[in-house]
Amino acid sequence: MAQRVLVVGASVGGAIAAITLRGLGVETVMLEKELVKAKPCGGAIPPVAFTEFDLPQRLIDRKIKYCLMVSPSGQETIVPVAGSVPSDDDYVAMVRREIFDGFLRERAQRRGADLIHGQLLGLEVNHAGVTARYRSMANGQEQTIQAAAVIGADGCYSPTARMLGLPQMPRAVAIQERIALPEAQMARWAETADLYLGSEVSPDLYAWAFPKCDHIALGIGAGPRYTAHAKRLLSNLKTRLGPAITGGQLLLREAHALPMEPRKHMAFERAMLVGDAAGLVVHTSGEGIYWAMKSGQLAAQTLAHFLDVPSAANLRTYERIWWQEYGLMYNFLRWLQWWGYGNERQMEVFTEMCRNADVQRLTFDSYMYKQMAPAPWLVQMRMTKDIIMAQVRNYLQRRTPVRERLGLAEVS
Ligand SMILES: Cc1cc2nc3c(=O)[nH]c(=O)nc-3n(C[C@H](O)[C@H](O)[C@H](O)COP(=O)(O)OP(=O)(O)OC[C@H]3O[C@@H](n4cnc5c(N)ncnc54)[C@H](O)[C@@H]3O)c2cc1C
Repeated sequence: MAQRVLVVGASVGGAIAAITLRGLGVETVMLEKELVKAKPCGGAIPPVAFTEFDLPQRLIDRKIKYCLMVSPSGQETIVPVAGSVPSDDDYVAMVRREIFDGFLRERAQRRGADLIHGQLLGLEVNHAGVTARYRSMANGQEQTIQAAAVIGADGCYSPTARMLGLPQMPRAVAIQERIALPEAQMARWAETADLYLGSEVSPDLYAWAFPKCDHIALGIGAGPRYTAHAKRLLSNLKTRLGPAITGGQLLLREAHALPMEPRKHMAFERAMLVGDAAGLVVHTSGEGIYWAMKSGQLAAQTLAHFLDVPSAANLRTYERIWWQEYGLMYNFLRWLQWWGYGNERQMEVFTEMCRNADVQRLTFDSYMYKQMAPAPWLVQMRMTKDIIMAQVRNYLQRRTPVRERLGLAEVS
């Protein structure tokens, strides 16, 4: 059996896995079914992705310096994008996935990974190796390929995971429209990205307006209970934005699922899962690009190390390191989603809490640099005081949701 690795899916997670494997001298083949259409995505990426993976700045459409949070009642909080030690490198990068993914895939090829344009149809994994059956997109023929191991980087629906006999994960849905606007209307979003909270736009996640080079990407996330309402939620977001997007030209409507839970295991004998296939999107922000890249890298490093004995026990080193490194952050963000988006009153509190300078700094340290240091006790006390006051204010007085003024129905 060949000592090559098959990577299924050559989007962000798969391409980084392939680049890493090639850097460690491992023969690598990527199998990707979709080389033209972009992965539906908001395309917000932390700067740490650019430094850690040595990515050129030309991939960035815009550098976001401010986040505008808008609560269900229309309270606004403008949060500067800055960490504890503010620098020019503090930003949120806005990319278009059709450009970003293409760059990573080409880099993997330049480093010697082969790319097959094909769709995985079947997978057999046994003690001797991996045999994958796929349909070639070039000629429609079914073909097979053999490898020593497989990395499933094939997204939320992960055919690799399914073919390994793993259950489906709970999924959210995100739907987005890309709308071209005249320069004068885009100016409002020159350095700002918007996040909207409210049960009419996203009952349990958030809605967004993320600017790209010449258009705005408007989207909503909806957890498993609300996926059937996704189109209505997006339409409500457009109503909330009103004149800001009037006259815009629809370029694209796109939707895809997001995993809501990490998988119990991400490594098996001769097989590993990364990114969305492993369920590694974080709660609260729905961020998955960096995590797909990082897990692709760590899985590839682990696999290269154990390629001679790719047992489940050896390959699970990957998941042990992963959860040691990021377990605290995942658990905290899961709690924050439950706490901050649980109901509209909490969404108001969440928006007010974002005015606290310590909360802002901690949020952006963890988002931009993936550092989650415990806050000093004085900072914790200041944050606790502000949170309690916001809770009390919002319990004593109900704020009127924007949707009531706009005549929009709550989605429940
Ligand atoms: C609308 C929306 C907005 C989002 N916004 C953001 C954001 O702003 N920032 C952020 O960080 N994250 C965002 N995410 C999440 C992010 O898009 C994902 O977490 C990320 O793309 C995961 O990367 P991946 O490589 O694991 O999988 P994917 O990017 O999903 O790639 C999987 C690849 O596998 C391929 N594939 C699937 N099946 C097969 C098969 N049978 N054979 C061959 N190939 C196959 C697919 O074609 C695809 O290229 C968003 C998601 C959605 C849906």
